Formats: sequence, structure tokens, C-alpha cells
Amino acid sequence: MVDLISQYEKIKPKVQSSINSILEKAQFINGPDVHSFKDEFGAYLSVKHVVPCANGTDALQIAMMALGLKPGDEIITPSYTYIATTEVMGLLHLKPVFVDCEKDTFNISLKAIEAAITSRTKAIVPVHLYGQSCDMEAIMKIAEKYDLKVIEDNAQAIGSDYTFSDGTVKKTGTIGDVGCTSFFPSKNLGCYGDGGAMCTNNDELAEKLTMVANHGQSKRYYHDVVGCNSRLDTIQAAVLRIKLRELDNYIDARRKAADYYDVQFSGLEGLTIPKRVENSKHVFHQYTLKLDDGIDRDALVAFLGEKDIPAMVYYPVPAHKQKMFATLETSSGSLENTDWLTTRVFSLPMHTELEKDQLEYICSAVKEFIEG
Ligand SMILES: *Cc1c(COP(=O)(O)O)cnc(C)c1O
Repeated sequence: MVDLISQYEKIKPKVQSSINSILEKAQFINGPDVHSFKDEFGAYLSVKHVVPCANGTDALQIAMMALGLKPGDEIITPSYTYIATTEVMGLLHLKPVFVDCEKDTFNISLKAIEAAITSRTKAIVPVHLYGQSCDMEAIMKIAEKYDLKVIEDNAQAIGSDYTFSDGTVKKTGTIGDVGCTSFFPSKNLGCYGDGGAMCTNNDELAEKLTMVANHGQSKRYYHDVVGCNSRLDTIQAAVLRIKLRELDNYIDARRKAADYYDVQFSGLEGLTIPKRVENSKHVFHQYTLKLDDGIDRDALVAFLGEKDIPAMVYYPVPAHKQKMFATLETSSGSLENTDWLTTRVFSLPMHTELEKDQLEYICSAVKEFIEG
């Protein structure tokens, strides 16, 4: 699904010299690269504060803690997402209220959000799934109307942007109260291990996020709130600084591969190419197709597998059907699109190093199966 080895080959000298100098100075924790990365990532996103942490799941958890969400508070979130988004709610004894998504964009449904709001609703967690922004202008309007916090799960959409109706363009993850992201190796901006970050334009919140991520500490050995220990390693920050300079090129490479797939598959009966909305730049963390009812997804994935083409199903079981939430009464209304999509989607290889001959090979195999 990804080719991190070929990508590494192209930046190898820079990465090795950077990591070497960290080893030689033994600056493993909070070294200068962590601080430089904070500044550089903040400048890339045009956001005031970046608070690095250990991974994307921690970022979500710390954001919910710093915003003061309390056990029993209802949080509106899509069911169609990676489990991390909703798992942290369970961990903090918040109540995830799962709502449906749109069939065409895979993103949270606005109508479903409004229908799920109660007097106990405290926050919305939109997920920019597969690399394209949710309708943030509308979501921020709903949040304002009902006085809700907005935590963007931006793990799959780093570098994507959203255009408001007045023409303002903002990067995803910088629109809500806080944006959370992951630097897991296969993400669009991935490090060589685990990493994550939170972004906010709110000075007070930035301070709280920093405090919660660091044992609730306001100054050394003075702990004001219960926090956790979640840091971005210096070595990972150094890798991220190098890869951040390539991020826009990486995004272009992904978009080019997606363009190729689109041309090959549009008009092919039996499957639907991913929709690109006008007001968001799709950064294609995944290239996800929908199969018509009647086409055997398992058989297709197995067929591709025999030809050494990895294909994955993200996600086969939506959050509201996971055993971990079995005892919670968590859903609001119908999750019809979510239930349908989880049986019909599949994703093709998507990364920065896809060559034309590889794309050709993948597309002809998919066509061979579909056309029979
Ligand atoms: C990857 C991912 C996360 C979690 O990131 P980790 O760094 O693996 O903890 C959260 N949400 C979404 C949507 C993701 O894709």
C-alpha cells in the first residue's frame, strides 16, 4: 500500500546526517529539532501554536482533556473512521454519539450532526477522512449556534485545505478549536516511528495542551492537573523537518496517482471513483473506491492479491459495531450510509513513489476483474 523505502532513498543523506548529530549530542528528549519543527510546521499550516506529542491517538486524548470535557459529555463523531478517534472518548468516559457520513465524500453528515445534538452535547469531532476536508464552514456554524467545541481529526489530511464561501483558505486542522494529527509512518507526513501533534490559534488552550501533554506540569515539579507523558522524540522531529520540506511534492505525487486512477476508472461500470469537492484540496491519504452491490469485494481483493497488488478495506467494521462499544447506547439515528460503505469500499495502493507502469498494472488488473 505504501513504499517508504524508495521514498527514504531520496532523502537518505539528509536523514542520516541529521540523526547522527542527535546521536552524537545525545539530545533525545526535547532537542532543538523538536522546537524547530514546531515553528516550521506552524508556519506551514499558518497556525499560531503547534504542540507536539507521541502519536495521533494521544493528540485526540490530550485535546479532549485540555478542553475540559467531562465523563458523560456527549461528543458527536462519525462512526466511519479509524478507531482511535472514538476510542479515546471511551477511555475518558465521554459518550461518543456516532452519526452517519455522506456516501459520496465519506465525511460526517451535517444533517446527522444537527439531529444528534442534545443538551449534553459538548463537542463535535469531524474526521477529514482519506485526505479531504469535511464541510468546516457549516460545522463551525453549528458549533457556534450550540456552543460546542470542535476537535478536527486531521490524521489523514495534513496539507489539505478548505476554502470558505468568502474565499478565505485555511489548512485543515487549523479551523476548529484544535486540530489533531498523526505522524505514523504511512500518513502523508510520516516519521520513522510514532509521532503526533495538536494545533490551535488559541493561546490559553495551547498552554493547557502543553501542560496536559507534560504531566499537567505548570513549572518543573508543580503539577496543576492530571496529565500524561506524551512527547515527540527529537529523532522523529528531525525526520519530520526534512519531510515537511517535501510535503507539497509528496501531495502532488499522490494527486497525480489519483488522477491516473480516476481516468482509468471513470466510466467503468461497477465502481465509483472518489468524489472531489470543490472547496477542499484532496491530498489522497487513501484512494478509496466504492463497488456496486453485486460485485464480490472479497473476491476482488483476493484476485488483486494473487497478482501481488495490495488492496485494503478501510474500514470493515464501523465504530458503532465494535465490541468495545457494545455496552454503550451510542448511536443517533440511522447509520445507513456507514453500514453500506463498510461493505462496499476498498482502497488501492497510494503513495508518493507510484510509477506509471505500476499504476498501469494495478488498473488493468482491476478492470480485468470488473469487466470479467
Ligand atoms: C492514524 C489515525 C489516528 C491515530 O494516529 P496514531 O498516530 O496511529 O495514534 C487517528 N485518527 C485517524 C483518522 C487516523 O487515520
